Amino acid sequence: MNLSRFPRIRVAHLPTPLEPLRRLTAQLGGPEIWIKRDDCTGLSTGGNKARKLEFLMAEAAEQGADMVITQGATQSNHARQTAAFAARMGLQCHVLLEDRTESKNEQYRNNGNVLLDLLHGATIAHYPGGIDMNAEMETAAGKFRADGRSVYTIPGGGSNATGALGYVNCALELSYQINDLGLRVDSIVHATGSAGTQAGLVTGLRALNTGIPVVGIGVRAPRQHQQQSVLKLAGETAGRLGLSGIVREEDVVANCDYVGPGYGLPADSTIEAIEMLARLEGILLDPVYSGKAMAGLIGLIREGAFVKDRTVIFLHTGGSAALFGYGHCFDFSKPESTPRSL
Ligand SMILES: *Cc1c(COP(=O)(O)O)cnc(C)c1O
Repeated sequence: MNLSRFPRIRVAHLPTPLEPLRRLTAQLGGPEIWIKRDDCTGLSTGGNKARKLEFLMAEAAEQGADMVITQGATQSNHARQTAAFAARMGLQCHVLLEDRTESKNEQYRNNGNVLLDLLHGATIAHYPGGIDMNAEMETAAGKFRADGRSVYTIPGGGSNATGALGYVNCALELSYQINDLGLRVDSIVHATGSAGTQAGLVTGLRALNTGIPVVGIGVRAPRQHQQQSVLKLAGETAGRLGLSGIVREEDVVANCDYVGPGYGLPADSTIEAIEMLARLEGILLDPVYSGKAMAGLIGLIREGAFVKDRTVIFLHTGGSAALFGYGHCFDFSKPESTPRSL
């Protein structure tokens, strides 16, 4: 496997740290929990999209683009990191934001990632929930092209075989750190949405023959659907690497029991996980992705799903900028916090 044959613009702060979560481990009574800090990739408050964008934006540059367009939900971390990356490259950025939650909350609609999109100079167009956003994006791109712009479009979440190379790279990095620290890893757990993170990670870990399983905690789609999306993209990613067929169906595992009321809507367990990490470890999670993934990890540990004397790694995919759009979901007036509806 040779990643350096793919064009890449190095912007992310890598390698991200791999650290123990001692107080959370003590609270839950084992296994040992470690955290891979992809919330610290450095680009506009960090997160997993920085790794994907290193490969995607290099492709945009190769194609001579003067503008990038992408799409996501209102509080999209991907839109924010794309806007920041585009700013750094001197490219115009246009984002299409889908109203998946129908929240009327002022902070949700204008603060957090939306504020940062605008701060990075992106233009925003708002769309109702439930429509084909990739089709809308092609329509928007067509209009800009008719105006003479050279447009590079990036799918939602940056999840295609190019973006997923960023997580093949993460698998290389993580595998090196695991060996270096001598960790006996039972599983890697992280949030899975548009599938690129898990597809790249699984492909990389398989290519290295690590034998380490990955559990994607779903944030939107039901399990079968999520696993199919990841498997399909992993197949395409392996193909790009000349390793077709390396990812088997059994390598792709999603758990979609922690979605709660729906995409972008925190469950009680999401709020509990965010508060636990903030108070036990001083680490910020988010209500859409990493909070649900951590709720999944906590739930699975409570069920006894992992070997107690082994290590479980939580891949922190970022997202804390969204917290500023979700302040109303926390209730600090009670000793035991309960979530408020969005
Ligand atoms: C996009 C995102 C994810 C999900 O990653 P995918 O590659 O889309 O599956 C997880 N966490 C955060 C914070 C994200 O922004």
